[in-house]
Amino acid sequence: MYCETDDELVELVERARKYTEDGKVADYIPALGRAEKCDLSIALYYTDGRCFKAGDVDKLFTLQSVSKVLALALAIMDNGEEEVFRKVGMEPTGDPFNSIAKLESQVPAKPLNPMINAGALVVSNMIEGRSTHDKLGRFLTLIHDLTNNTSIDVDHEVSDSEFETAHLNRALCYYMKQHGLITGDVEDLIDLYTRQCAIKVSCLDLARIGMVLANKGRDPETNRMIIPEGIATLVKTFMVTCGMYNASGEFAIRVGIPAKSGVSGGIIGLVPPSMGIGVYGPALNEKGNSIAGVKLLEMLSQRYELSIF
Ligand code: GLU
Repeated sequence: MYCETDDELVELVERARKYTEDGKVADYIPALGRAEKCDLSIALYYTDGRCFKAGDVDKLFTLQSVSKVLALALAIMDNGEEEVFRKVGMEPTGDPFNSIAKLESQVPAKPLNPMINAGALVVSNMIEGRSTHDKLGRFLTLIHDLTNNTSIDVDHEVSDSEFETAHLNRALCYYMKQHGLITGDVEDLIDLYTRQCAIKVSCLDLARIGMVLANKGRDPETNRMIIPEGIATLVKTFMVTCGMYNASGEFAIRVGIPAKSGVSGGIIGLVPPSMGIGVYGPALNEKGNSIAGVKLLEMLSQRYELSIF
């Protein structure tokens, strides 16, 4: 049973919206602090081309950590699975996304997974290209293909704001460079990573990306394989085990779908084989997930029995 009208979604959004009051907009990247706390929106995109939307669906927001899923896919397409997982692990962590703690206790030093910042920085460092511009261009092309929206671009105000304040991410990079996990110039990598995180999308864009992943990496409208099936499966599995920060276990139990959130309040989700979901709600809970967005997904999952488990 799937949702088939905008009205069904409108009702869920309005029920979930009250939870935004209990959350807090991220402001450690100063430009994100200007988001409207009470915003909440959702879009669904099915493989047969139907879309349903509700809430503040015209609001654009930056990918932030949602970009980690797609950067991982691109880095594996560029380098192969073996090379990528030589440098980054496959295990969830109970630590916050930007934690430096586990890096020192792992021997040899290796980030636990590609969804935490340390792992994501290693992954971005593996994207092929002659320059930052080139690498970012290849990443944007992947996003244009997945969304079928070539107008998607970087929000430079957000990327500049993060670049100025990303000292913890710089610290992670220098530590990992010392251990041979990162090569090249750290400032260039921070530049690429902050731009990758600042790519601006709508929840419909996220839903379409989720739909292509649900469809095993193939765009059903063009029949083009955008992400090879095995790599799509792999990134979806990381979404289940590590996608919702150190709340991934609870999310798997309560919602039960592959999903990835970001500190801008975006969440991408998907229900194989035919549905992609995009959510935006910038008020976050203490774990860094959209507080009302998670509630909304919980309600949606219960109503339509979406859990994959
Ligand atoms: N650009 C953010 C950072 O690295 C992404 C964090 C997130 O969305 O979890 O701090």
